[in-house]
Amino acid sequence: MKSNMAGEELMNKIVSLCKRRGFVYQNSEIYGGMANTWDYGPMGVELKMNIKNAWWKDFVRERENVVGLDSAIIMHPDIWKASGHLDSFNDALIDCKSCKSRFRADHIIEDAIGMDVEGKTAAEMTEIIHNEEIKCPVCGSKDWTDARLFNLMFKTFQGVVEDSSSVVYLRPETAQGIFVNFKNVVDTMRVSLPFGIGQIGKAFRNEITPGNFIFRTREFEQMELQFFVKPGEDDEWFAYWKKYAMDWLTGLGISAENLDYHDHSPEKLAHYSKATTDIIYKFPFGWEELWGIANRTNFDLSTHMEHSGKKMTYFDNESGEHIVPYVIEPSVGVDRLLLAFIVEAYTEDEVDGSTRVYLNLHPALAPVKAAVFPLSKKEPLVNMAREIYDKLKKVFNVEYDESGSIGRRYRRQDEIGTPYCITVDFDSIEDKKVTIRERNTLKQDRVEIDRVLDYLLERI
Ligand code: ATP
Repeated sequence: MKSNMAGEELMNKIVSLCKRRGFVYQNSEIYGGMANTWDYGPMGVELKMNIKNAWWKDFVRERENVVGLDSAIIMHPDIWKASGHLDSFNDALIDCKSCKSRFRADHIIEDAIGMDVEGKTAAEMTEIIHNEEIKCPVCGSKDWTDARLFNLMFKTFQGVVEDSSSVVYLRPETAQGIFVNFKNVVDTMRVSLPFGIGQIGKAFRNEITPGNFIFRTREFEQMELQFFVKPGEDDEWFAYWKKYAMDWLTGLGISAENLDYHDHSPEKLAHYSKATTDIIYKFPFGWEELWGIANRTNFDLSTHMEHSGKKMTYFDNESGEHIVPYVIEPSVGVDRLLLAFIVEAYTEDEVDGSTRVYLNLHPALAPVKAAVFPLSKKEPLVNMAREIYDKLKKVFNVEYDESGSIGRRYRRQDEIGTPYCITVDFDSIEDKKVTIRERNTLKQDRVEIDRVLDYLLERI
């Protein structure tokens, strides 16, 4: 059913479900809303936490050679000079003189004539827009300003004086916090190459064209691993992390047919990169980047060594040499990933002649693992149900719900992706058993109350 649905209609249904069921709310809604800014509601925050926990477990904690880090968002401004962000973290934007709309020059060209202009200068893009007589998508005019570069970093001031000496930036990626701590980790942890440092945290980019719900926002969260390797072993590790990230996605329920690799051609590579592959996902609005995997070479460590004057080398016992390691970076946005998991999970089927909507989320990601319902608000049903709930909530995020018809209670749990619903009915008083219903198949099992926890543990 999903594949027949037009992309826009599917997105509308997903945005509406996200609001209705407490996943994602419009930010500052009571003040008219802040465009392209979203808040995660009670279900969204659980889903997000489960995604981050799954990543942390599989990319950091369960790996002997990866450690974690949590660095500051506002860092020494020289870091952004050294990393190249001050000089080249730019998008070219262009204004329509007639209606004053502002666009990304590359998007205008791509949408109008399908030309990929990544790597072209602002002047080259201006020329293409003029030569091809591209029209403003809003008003149809061909009266454009020249395209000019716009730095995507958010600037602010630290301390009480607002002058150029107090300018600081909100980090546009978490990676630099890892690079500047490379020496600290090498000196204080017992790590040896190859080893990684992982970090989850907020990043900020003053995007010219945010949109597509939580796909592209100005404030977002990243999960980044910097995996340091000996030069010469980088190609092998690049291939390793590409596959590992892909397998991780399919392992959590994203179907392989909705995922693909997209290799960046050499002329499109970022200034620090020797090779970059994106894992792209088939969103309802098209195939888009989900996860970037880059071979950043030794660019970052070398540039910080040069700008800070501090040694960023690693002593290799085998060769007896001081080397600057290469780094492979798998970098994924939590919000974008959350959207992909919801898109993938959104399912409609028919139950008793009417349409049912459920989120087919992997149990590890589902915000609520089980819901406990007493069939009626009468004793001893309520008491029995509460006892089950109290026992389960120590192990999982579970909900207790006694209001409304059973059908409505099921529907709500289906829409938030709860894999199991447990109903205490009048027979439970006699046989000390409950009915456990599985979300996707609607299959019901009669399970002894004492076995409920084990039943769930075996399946979640
Ligand atoms: P795009 O081409 O979509 O702007 P990018 O190539 O600039 O992305 P990277 O710098 O590689 O992105 O960032 C790594 C990851 O961070 C991306 O794969 C994406 O998941 C996430 N990400 C980047 N920018 C945003 C954003 N504005 N909103 C949400 N997630 C983002």
